[in-house]
Order: sequence, then structure tokens, then C-alpha cells
Amino acid sequence: MKYKPADNIQDLQYFGEFGGVNPSISDSSTYTFLSAKTMFDTFEGNAEGCYLYSRHSSPSNLYLGKALAAMEGTETANVTASGMGAITSSLLQLCEAGDHIVTSRTIYGGTYAFLKNFAPKFQLYTSFIDITNLEAVEAAITTKTKVLYCESVSNPLLEVADLEALAKIAKKHQLTFVVDNTFSPLSISPAKLGADIVIHSLTKFINGSSDTVGGVVCGNQEFINATRSVNDGAAMLLGPTMDSFRAASILKNLRTLHIRMKQHSHNAIYLAKKFQQDGLRTVYPGLENHPGHETFKKLMNERYGYGGLLTIDVGSLEKANELMEMMQERNLGYLAVSLGFYKTLFSAPGSSTSSEIPIEEQEEMGLSDGLIRFSIGLDNDIERTYQMMKNCMLEVGILKEEMV
Ligand SMILES: *Cc1c(COP(=O)(O)O)cnc(C)c1O
Repeated sequence: MKYKPADNIQDLQYFGEFGGVNPSISDSSTYTFLSAKTMFDTFEGNAEGCYLYSRHSSPSNLYLGKALAAMEGTETANVTASGMGAITSSLLQLCEAGDHIVTSRTIYGGTYAFLKNFAPKFQLYTSFIDITNLEAVEAAITTKTKVLYCESVSNPLLEVADLEALAKIAKKHQLTFVVDNTFSPLSISPAKLGADIVIHSLTKFINGSSDTVGGVVCGNQEFINATRSVNDGAAMLLGPTMDSFRAASILKNLRTLHIRMKQHSHNAIYLAKKFQQDGLRTVYPGLENHPGHETFKKLMNERYGYGGLLTIDVGSLEKANELMEMMQERNLGYLAVSLGFYKTLFSAPGSSTSSEIPIEEQEEMGLSDGLIRFSIGLDNDIERTYQMMKNCMLEVGILKEEMV
């Protein structure tokens, strides 16, 4: 294979034109040309290193794209204004009216809503299946299917997709295999396992400071060029363009991703094991009884661990709310959606991030209303955090003294 995922984030740094340790921020929407011919060539896509207009590309966005392509081991990448901007522009680039997509029934709420409610306006139809059931995946593929789409680790149920096996199925049926790797940056490298296109919401772990939304599409030059084409490129024409200032700030945060992921994983597995010992229904891919544990283990880059997300089921939405409010009062984290922050974030997905999914379908996929999703933070003393969380659980009555 020509491109390999990077082992070391510190190898991804680019310094600036004037020797600054950070690249200069390109503070321009448009660019001058010294000759009219070069401008024409740039329009035609034939002037390497020239910039035309920042919706098309900008130096700051290219720096960030390069770093992320190196991280995922793809030829190139295009950054976007949000994860949804990356997902929707990629799918609309790949598909035409009449085409069909096969995806998991447990994908991110926004992606689900796009495929279920929006894409059919363009005669683009989707089958939602259990992605861990490879026979069901294959059975859903028709002559119209163009794309196999999944998340490496799904939101919020933390199902693990067997990317290797799915890549084989995609290849056999000549489908483009698109993987959203938002939940498992560095831990899983989908391109190495056979994904054609790897997408991230940069909003989450990669930026890690909950100060912006952002996205990226990592793929080969041909596909990325197609999305940026001035004539029929979805990224160019729909306009999900990241601002240069944000690209520069995300690049700086990317440099500590490897350290952060190790700490998120370290803290999450500690809590998951403790919660499970206490008798709570705990879902974490690092636990041996998780149905996707062996798959994750087979796919993973071990040193980054099983990621920072875990869920517990406390039985009812009332208990979930009571617990979350108490934990927030005691400064154990914030009652907020999203993930990848330095502080623990928690929310009840059934009534928040997955509320786009109808209740009956939520039940069918095992998304109960007492489910709390935790994005575990970078706490320096996770034992102390655990003790304090346990006290909240005892007070709320989720745990009983005799149980622990
Ligand atoms: C948040 C998220 C998205 C959407 O990203 P935005 O940056 O909010 O547009 C897509 N996929 C997954 C798995 C996510 O968690």
C-alpha cells in the first residue's frame, strides 16, 4: 500500500513560509495572479500551488487537510465546515438519483436524518441494517447500490463495525466504502483496513476543545478533486467551506491528539470496569463482554486504547436526568451533547442526539431512555472521579450500598 497511517502526530507538522513554527494563516478569500493565463489554468485545475478563491481551497485548509490525510493514510483530504458538510457532500458526490446506499441503523442522528428524510427528495434511497450482521449487509445490496456507509464505532450504542470484512463485501459488489471514524481517531485506521473514504467530524476528539465545528473527507486525489471541481463538485457547489482561522487552530490542537486519546481511553476503561463491577449495565468496547470487543481488538492500533465513549443504562430517563444534574453540580462534567472535550460530557441520547430516530426504532436497536452516554474527559485523577460519581449514584439510588 502506498499510503500508511502516521504513527506519530509530531511528524505531521508543517512550518510557515517565514520560518514560524506554525504556518501563516491565509487571511484572504481571493488570490491575485501575475498573468491572466495562470488564472485560466487554475480554473481548469491545472495550476499546482496556485489559489483561486477560498471556497475552492486555501493554504491554511490545505495544511490541515495534509496533516489529516497523513494521519489516516490517504492520498489527500479536504476539510469542511462541519462533519455533516463532509458527509453530505461526499454522499452527494458519489450518488445520483436512483442510487441506493446501505448503512447501519445505529448511525449518528444527523446522518440518519439526512439519509432518511432529505436524500429521498433526490431519489436517493437508503437501507438501514444491523452492520454487525454481515449477511444482512450483503442481502441489502442491490444492483442500484453505490455506497456502503458506516461508523467504525457507532453512536450512541458503540457497535463496532468489522471494517475488514465490510471492505471485502464492498469490493466484491464494487461499492464505495465510506467510513465515519469520528469516535475512534488513531485507535482505528479505516483506510488501512480497506475503506475508500474516511470522514471525521473534527468537532469531536480531533479538535478536542469544543470551540468549533469542522469536518474532513480523506480519500484519493481523484475523488477529492471531484468534490472540489468548479463545474460539478459537491464541496465546491454546496459550499461547506472551513474558515482559514479555524483550520489553523484545529491544526494546532491536532498535535496533542495522540496524548489526549491515550488519556481518554485510559480513563474510560477504568470507569467502565468499575461501573460494571458495581453492577451497572455498562457498554464499552474495551470490556470483554462487549459484542464488538474482539472485532475492535483485531482492528485497533493498540496503544490508543478503546476510546473515550461509554454508556450506562440507569433504567429510566428520570434517574438519568437526576444523576446527570447532580454530577454537573459537583463539577464531574457537563450535561451537554458532543464529545472529545477535556471535561467529561454526558447526555441521554434517546432524548437528545438520537432524537431524530423514531421511538420504535430506538427500542428495536436497544436504545433505551435510561441510557446515558459519557464522553470521558482527561481527568488527572480518575480514581477520585470514580469515587465522586459513585457517591452521586448512591444518592440518586441507582446503586445501593449493599451492591458496592
Ligand atoms: C458529531 C458527529 C457528526 C456530525 O459532525 P458535525 O461536526 O456536528 O457536523 C457525524 N458523525 C458522528 C459520528 C458524529 O459524532
